[in-house]
Parts: sequence; C-alpha cells; structure tokens
Amino acid sequence: MFEGLSDRLSGILSGLTRRGALTEADVSEALREVRRALLEADVALEVVRSFTDKVRERAVGAEVVKSVTPGQMVVKIVNDALVEMLGAEAETIDVRALPPVPILMVGLQGSGKTTTTAKIAKRLSEREKKKVLMASLDTRRPAAMEQLAILGKQVSVDTLPIVAGQSAVQIAKRAMQAARLGGYDVVMLDTAGRVTVDEQLMAEAADVGKAVEAHEVLLVADALTGQDAVNTARAFDGRMGLTGIVLTRMDGDSRGGAALSMRAVTGKPIKLIGTGEKVDALEEFHPSRVANRILG
Ligand code: GDP
Repeated sequence: MFEGLSDRLSGILSGLTRRGALTEADVSEALREVRRALLEADVALEVVRSFTDKVRERAVGAEVVKSVTPGQMVVKIVNDALVEMLGAEAETIDVRALPPVPILMVGLQGSGKTTTTAKIAKRLSEREKKKVLMASLDTRRPAAMEQLAILGKQVSVDTLPIVAGQSAVQIAKRAMQAARLGGYDVVMLDTAGRVTVDEQLMAEAADVGKAVEAHEVLLVADALTGQDAVNTARAFDGRMGLTGIVLTRMDGDSRGGAALSMRAVTGKPIKLIGTGEKVDALEEFHPSRVANRILG
C-alpha cells in the first residue's frame, strides 16, 4: 500500500526531539522522501530537482516552533511550496475582450481536446450566458468534425457548418465572420489533433492563432501521460505561446504530477481540469487539492 508523504516525513523526523533550527542532515533524509513521492506522482525530473532545492533552502535553518513537530513543519514547507508552484489562485477562461472572442484549442490527438472544447462552450454558455460558436479545424479527419457537431447538439451550442475543401485558416476566418454576423460572443476553434508533436500541424495551429488573433490559446493535455505532457506543453508553448492549460482525465488514478510539471516548465496556469467523459465533467483547478493529491 502506498503511504502518504506526510506520514513518511513525520515518521522520518519523529526521532528529532531536539528543538531549534533544522540542520542540513535533518532535512536531507526528508528530501529523499519528497523526491521519491514526486517521482511516484509522475513529476518531471527537472521539476523534482528545482522543487527539492526550493524546499531545502526554506527548511535548512528554519526554527522548529514549540507547537509543531519537525515532521509537521517540513510537511508544511513542502505543502506551501507545492501550492505556490502550482499557482496560488484558481484561474478562469478569459473572455473579456471585444466579441467575438476567439479561443484556440490545441493538443495531441486523444487528449480530450474536442470533448473539452464542448465542455468549455457549455460552461460559457450556461454560466456566463455567452453566445458561443464552435468550429472544428480538423480538415484531415471528417470524423472529428462530425464529433464536434454531435457534441454541439448535446450541449446546445452552435457549430459552424462544414464546408469541404477549406484550409484550417479559412475555416477559422469563416467562423469569425459568421460569429460577427450572428452576434456571437465567443468562437471556440478546435484545431487538428496530432499523435505526436508534429511541426507541420503545429505550424498550422500557430497560423490559425495569428490569423484570428486568438485571445486564449489553451493546451489540452492528458494527466495520465505524466512526463510526456511536459514535453508537449513546452513544445506548444514555444511554438505559439499558450495562455493556459486544461488537464483532462483527472478522474483517473493520476496523482496530478503533470499539473506541477507543466506549470513549472511553462509558467502557464492550469485553468480547468477534466474529470470524466460527460460534458459536465469540467472543474476549476484548485492548487491545494492537487498538492494534497501529490503529497498523499
Ligand atoms: P481528442 O482526440 O483530443 O479530440 O479527444 P476526444 O475529445 O475525442 O476524447 C478522447 C476520449 O477521451 C473520449 O472518449 C472522451 O470521452 C475521453 N475524455 C475526454 N476528457 C476526459 C476526462 O476528463 N476524463 C475521462 N475519463 N475521459 C475523458
């Protein structure tokens, strides 16, 4: 059975009855456990390193106050550093701009991009009373276009009619034009998914982003892909500048390490999390909850 990090740290430091400042030696064994827990949670190695450095800096020399044990104190330092690194505040999708506001959805095929596009459209339409138009830019896979149209009906959000033979940029421009004429507030553009980070498709998504001056560029990433999610996030952010990340499959048994890694590597906020296949399974990202999940 997996024992939570908090318990392990308390166990390690329980022999420490002496009061006063924590020494390098006190902290180093605890840090080995922190490192192990983060790796078990699928946090990228480079992020594990910078995180443990940060904790070491704060813990060594820290005075153990009377009301807590050394274990509790280190657990608090680790927890605070995790929450801080995950981003302290719950972020939202920003639609405060001149309508129609274009939101570009990018990500690997199978990450949950199309489903998430519909989930966000539903949320904006129901909670914020926005008039939303969705468009699929996946010219290579008619099934993906069809899927978005079906989801659109399910969530009562309009989708742009499919016109064969148009490029992704042409479809995006047509969507913006239709939105202007139809009085829509938000246009959600579901770009073509790719199996791996592929330069040609990435360039296409970047071109679309430029053509419509995307207000949000959201990367949809699968929490279960752990370390790979970090490379994906870095590649997309480098190519087109993300404004945020949506982490899907947080209902699975992922410990949420991908959230920490992606946030640390790109500096971009995790805006929402997907928690199931249903169109309602979308939640705000709460750093403290994910920190708890990583800490175990
Ligand atoms: P795309 O290829 O990136 O557009 O991925 P899809 O939107 O088609 O999603 C692929 C599969 O993942 C579908 O079966 C979705 O229902 C499922 N899916 C999407 N998001 C989530 C999620 O947050 N949790 C779970 N369990 N399944 C999800």
